[in-house]
Amino acid sequence: MDIGGLSGGRLRIDLGAIAANYRLIAERVAPAEVGAVVKANAYGLGAIKVAQALCDAGCRLFFVAHLGEALALRPALRAEFRLVVLNGLPPGAEALCAEAAITPVLNSPEQVHRWAEVAQKAGTRLPAVLQLDSGMGRLGIAIEDLAPLAGNAQFHSAIELVMVMSHLACADTPEHPANAAQLACFQTAAALFPGIPRALANSGGAFLPADFHADIVRAGIALYGGAPNQSGLNPMRPVVDLEARVIQIRTIVAGGAVGYGHSHYCERESRIATIGVGYADGLPRSLGNRGAAWHAGARLPIVGRVSMDSITIDVTALPPGGIEVGGWVELIGPHQSVDSLADDAGTISYEMLAGLGARYDRAYLPASVRDRAVAA
Ligand SMILES: *Cc1c(COP(=O)(O)O)cnc(C)c1O
Repeated sequence: MDIGGLSGGRLRIDLGAIAANYRLIAERVAPAEVGAVVKANAYGLGAIKVAQALCDAGCRLFFVAHLGEALALRPALRAEFRLVVLNGLPPGAEALCAEAAITPVLNSPEQVHRWAEVAQKAGTRLPAVLQLDSGMGRLGIAIEDLAPLAGNAQFHSAIELVMVMSHLACADTPEHPANAAQLACFQTAAALFPGIPRALANSGGAFLPADFHADIVRAGIALYGGAPNQSGLNPMRPVVDLEARVIQIRTIVAGGAVGYGHSHYCERESRIATIGVGYADGLPRSLGNRGAAWHAGARLPIVGRVSMDSITIDVTALPPGGIEVGGWVELIGPHQSVDSLADDAGTISYEMLAGLGARYDRAYLPASVRDRAVAA
């Protein structure tokens, strides 16, 4: 008997859609190159599987947040593909990074100094990315600290600069004036390093005017089907389907309560289905009495609080027998995008995907030959 997996939920990840999204961004920003941001286990979707699909789609450049993530991914990538650590290196991790042929982002003069020192000791030049803080105030080197490096012969003899980058704070809001201000700051700083490839845009930036694309785009959320900006139109192909299994259906009398804290009372006699996923599966408690699941075209509101391993939904809208124990409801899919579920939860697609966790049964739809064609 096919019991459909042993978990309360099943996640289907369409690698072909990720490849198609990669192509769409690549076409949009050409001749700029598109690197893939696969930090946080590729936004929860599985870094190794996702990276391999992206390699097949033609991607040659990958970004993660931490050295630990890079070390885990490095063996899955061909040696000539570049793997970059966005958050930079903690002191003492430089040799490990160099030995593994991983490229750090240097986010401070101290990180520059330590990376140069390791290179000098090894008697070699080591590749690195320099990050400028062009106005986000999160990571990177101030422009006045960048200028002295440009003319520093010792710096250039120790470090092979492969990219100058910065990060946009408001790229998902195309009309925000901070975008133009950051672009101007970035262009001034990058001019200090003529001939070095420049990278400024994330997914949102890929959908800003061509100036923002520079030489390299770092795409994350749009590869995974999330909307790249708040325009309301999402040109990306959906990547994730999430379904939850119905583990019980109960009839609750009018006035009866549902769930922790009795936060929901049934106004009329109701059929309440309990599904086997909860906040330990990345479905935030903020979905309590707010979001919905879907089945057979019907919206089934979440009633009561979200528990650790279960959620209660009102299935009264379905005809009797319209859903049974062992059946499945949609949480992310054709009726409800990851963006709209995130919106109901008061968060963003990034947090929703990154929080999906390890408990689901996961299935990967392989990229078709057509999806891979661009790699040829
Ligand atoms: C996460 C991240 C990205 C990817 O951003 P998306 O909005 O997901 O495309 C790009 N660059 C940096 C520095 C990041 O931290």
